[in-house]
Parts: sequence; structure tokens; C-alpha cells
Amino acid sequence: MFFQNTIKSSVEINGIGLHTGKEAFLAFHPAPENTGIHIQRSDLPNKPSLPVKAKHVQATQMATTIGGDFFRVSTVEHCLSAVTALQIDNIILEVRGPEIPVGDGSAQIFWDALNNAGIQQQNQPKKFVFIKEPFEISDGDKWVKVKPYNGLKIDCIIDFEHPSIGLQKMSLELTAENFKNQILKARTFGFLKDVEALKAAGLALGGSLDNAIVMDDSSVLNPGGLRFEDEFVRHKILDAIGDLATLGMPILAHFEMYKSGHDLLNKLIKKILANPNLYKEVELGEA
Ligand SMILES: [Zn+2]
Repeated sequence: MFFQNTIKSSVEINGIGLHTGKEAFLAFHPAPENTGIHIQRSDLPNKPSLPVKAKHVQATQMATTIGGDFFRVSTVEHCLSAVTALQIDNIILEVRGPEIPVGDGSAQIFWDALNNAGIQQQNQPKKFVFIKEPFEISDGDKWVKVKPYNGLKIDCIIDFEHPSIGLQKMSLELTAENFKNQILKARTFGFLKDVEALKAAGLALGGSLDNAIVMDDSSVLNPGGLRFEDEFVRHKILDAIGDLATLGMPILAHFEMYKSGHDLLNKLIKKILANPNLYKEVELGEA
């Protein structure tokens, strides 16, 4: 039997927000069984909180934002990716502003904090969403195919007309170990011309070479270069793992993704939740 997990103790992260460029704070807190993942704004009156669920995902162009009528928190996917890879089911993400710290643009600071807190197994069995039949979703030339699978496997293809990126493919069988070795350190990326436009619009004010791979028309501008030759496709998988957390339960499936992003994955998760014939909830024996 697989049991639910939380963390052993609370842990805090301080940094800056990608968009505001101002100080950002995040604390992870343990939560009881069957709580799920919740995000809380402790800086607002009555400290409102929301479960991290697809129906609360608001903006999906550049980042995943969780929000409701009273508040929102943006750029949650890298944090959720670390939570998911460590198989944490029940946790409170406390923030004191509209953003969580950006870190170095990868999932490293979240991974380190969660490991410092330690994983605590709980007494209730873990429930998984098991995909029963193949289906796919597409938007223009982007698509995601989903097949039944006894685990979580992600095959990802990206194709950017840029000399530093081009066509990249990667396949990941998700375990904490594989995530740590292959995905964890892959940073988010952007193009200088977009960054300049965003800053002119008052966005990405905290964005810098310290928290993203930035490219001009021909090359990577970061003095240290890339962490992996195919860091871009690795980061797309990191994002996808984070977005899958909005299902509200760990998923067992094989995903094949072509040029997919936050928007298409959000549609995919909403499609799963709206079609109970596509899946069943299962508990797993160790076998
Ligand atoms: Zn990302």
C-alpha cells in the first residue's frame, strides 16, 4: 500500500518575485491527511486559502496562476513540480504576496526546502487517478496524447526556431531520483526581446540572468551557459509535472507532449476531471 505524505515540519523560503521584482516569501507547512495541496495568502485579511485545483488556475500564457475571487498567486508551477516529484499529498503553501520566490528559475530552492523539512508518511492510503483509455487533446499544432500506464511517464518534444534550442526530445519516468538527476536544475527560459517588452509593461521586473536562461536572436546570454545541452525540454517536463498537480491527486498515465504548455495542460486536466469515464481512482499495493 502507498500512503499519503506530508512534511515533518514547517520551512521558509525568502527571495524575489519574478514579476514584481520585490521580496517574496513562501512557507511550506505540514497538513493532515486528505487535505491536498492548498495555497494561502497570509498577508490578506482572514488569510484566505484555496486548494490547488485546475478550476482555480487563472492565467496560463507564461506561468500558472492559482486564484479565486479574493486573491491570486502566480508562477506556482516550479514549486508544485518539486512537491509532486517528492510525492507529497498534503501541504500548505503560505505566501505573503502575489508571487512565490523565483529562486534560480528551476525547482531547486523548493526541492531543498522540502528535503530540509523532511517527508512524513501518514496513515491514510494514497489515491491515484488511473487513466483507463487513451485520448488526446490538441490546439493548432500542439498536442498531448494520454495512455494508460502503471506509473507516470512523460515524453516531451519541443521545437523552437532558434539556434540554441531547435528540436529537443526527452522521456522521463517520474521518480524522485530521476527528477533530482534529470529535471530539478533545468531553468525557465525567455528571449531578450520578450523580456524587454515585458519590463516595459511592468512585468518580469525581477527577471534576470540569475533566474532564467535568456537568449538574443542567436545565442544564450548567461555567462555560465546551459546546465544541460537540452535544458529547455527538461524545463518543459518540470513545468508539466507542476501543472499536473492541479489534478488534485497523483496521476498514473503515459503522456506524449508536442509543443505543449501551461494552457494546453490546463485544458487536458479539466477534460479528465469532466469525464469520469476516462479514469478511475485507485489505491495501489506495493506490487
Ligand atoms: Zn517553468
